[in-house]
Order: sequence, then structure tokens, then C-alpha cells
Amino acid sequence: MNCPSCGFEYTYALDDMQVCSACQFTWNPNEVKEENVKRYFDAHGTELFDGDDVIVIKDLRFKGSSDVIKQGTKAQNIKLVDKDHDIECRVLGFGFISLKTEFVKKV
Ligand SMILES: [Zn+2]
Repeated sequence: MNCPSCGFEYTYALDDMQVCSACQFTWNPNEVKEENVKRYFDAHGTELFDGDDVIVIKDLRFKGSSDVIKQGTKAQNIKLVDKDHDIECRVLGFGFISLKTEFVKKV
């Protein structure tokens, strides 16, 4: 199991914990496992997965810009990330953007 702190591949188990031999970071492997299975749902409660196509369900304005992504715009090949805007995707005419799962619907 790689170290969640520095990514080093040589770690060892100490009691219930896992320890990194490079940076000495100590973590509970069971907690990390739960974090990795974070699930994402669209506005209608349909589960989303990497590579899905979604449709924007309301007009979205970009921060600090007059550009608006219109309701009904299709975003292709989404990537789910553990951030405030939890979808990264490509939208025709806009390029690479971030969206929130609550404002999209799975196609
Ligand atoms: Zn480490």
C-alpha cells in the first residue's frame, strides 16, 4: 500500500496502523479504504462514474467571467474528483472545466 502522504511504496503494518518508511507518516488503512469508495450522484440521485456523459440542468455562470454554460449543455467523459466542484470534464466551446454533481444529470 502506497503512503497517502508522500506516495512512497514501501510501508509496513504496525498494530492496526500502516507506517511509511520514508516520511514516517502513520495512518489507518481501513479509513483510507472508505475514503477511496466515495460515491457521486447527479441531481436525480443517479450514481456517476468516470467516463460518463452528463447534461447541465441549469445555467451556470463562470466565476469572474460573463460566460454562461447553458442548461442542456453536454459534458463528455467526466472525471470525478474529491473537491468542491467534483466533476472535471470537457465541454464543447469551453474546454476543460469543473462542475458540481448537483447541477448535472446523467445522459
Ligand atoms: Zn510517506
